[in-house]
Amino acid sequence: MGFPSSRYKRVKRMIRIMQSDGIRKNYTVNSSVTWFDDWFTIEQLDYRTFIISEPRFFLQNNSYLILGELSALLFDTGSGKRDLSGVVASLTDKPLMVLPSHAHSDHLGSILNFKRIALADLPINRKNTEGNIFKPSYLMYCDLPKRPKIPVYKWMDLNETIDLGNRSLEIIATPGHSLDSICLFDKQNKMLFTGDFLYEGNLIATLGGSVSSYLSSSQKLIEESQGDELLLPAHYTSQLEWDNLADLQQGLTSIIAGKTKGNRYTFSYKYPINDKISFITTMPKIKSAKKDKQLFLSQGL
Ligand SMILES: [Zn+2]
Repeated sequence: MGFPSSRYKRVKRMIRIMQSDGIRKNYTVNSSVTWFDDWFTIEQLDYRTFIISEPRFFLQNNSYLILGELSALLFDTGSGKRDLSGVVASLTDKPLMVLPSHAHSDHLGSILNFKRIALADLPINRKNTEGNIFKPSYLMYCDLPKRPKIPVYKWMDLNETIDLGNRSLEIIATPGHSLDSICLFDKQNKMLFTGDFLYEGNLIATLGGSVSSYLSSSQKLIEESQGDELLLPAHYTSQLEWDNLADLQQGLTSIIAGKTKGNRYTFSYKYPINDKISFITTMPKIKSAKKDKQLFLSQGL
């Protein structure tokens, strides 16, 4: 698959990149978003970072292809409405590993079309794995009838950095949206890949989520960061300013303290964080903040 010729012509700037960079020759980039076909778009953040989006999917997924000198990592594998692997193959021929931000179905869409699937070495992921075959729990996979059987190529130790060759990524466990949520941090290039932990819109901590864990995780991310990083979320707008993370931390503190008023939202409550972000959760989760903290600690996160 390639670019439709009319769109191909419209691209103004062509960069011929050596095959040794791992980016296919004749791949055409410009500073804006380009359609790959009629489903996926590609945005090149820099010469080693690609945002593959699905603007026609109702959750508007963003998956991230992150290149180093030696290898590549794909963070999330899309909605599965279309196969993402062809898009990735058009962008790099470096050895590729995929890593999901968490095991909700909208992040595992094309995962079985990739060979090397890594998982964060979290107790919840180990618990759902038998004989190196990972099966997401029903709670995490409640919107699809069939759970995929995912062979685990590599368990990613949270204390280890992922070395892609002159580019390293840290995995940060960020429970809150789900128990297994992780963020990826490229500190050198000031990029924080936030998965579903932070995006523009309604953040969710309902089934399997936890408000107090969300707060602890936001504090952890703030401690790890310098305050000028770019946030790269898994849904909707693909780039957000760091200040949204600070707002989230303050907003959650206020929610837990009972200072922010929530409005009924289906079976939950919705709380404002800032003009871009709201937070949806169920009241009992807030009331059981202590219990959540115990769970959080018992997971060793
Ligand atoms: Zn999601």
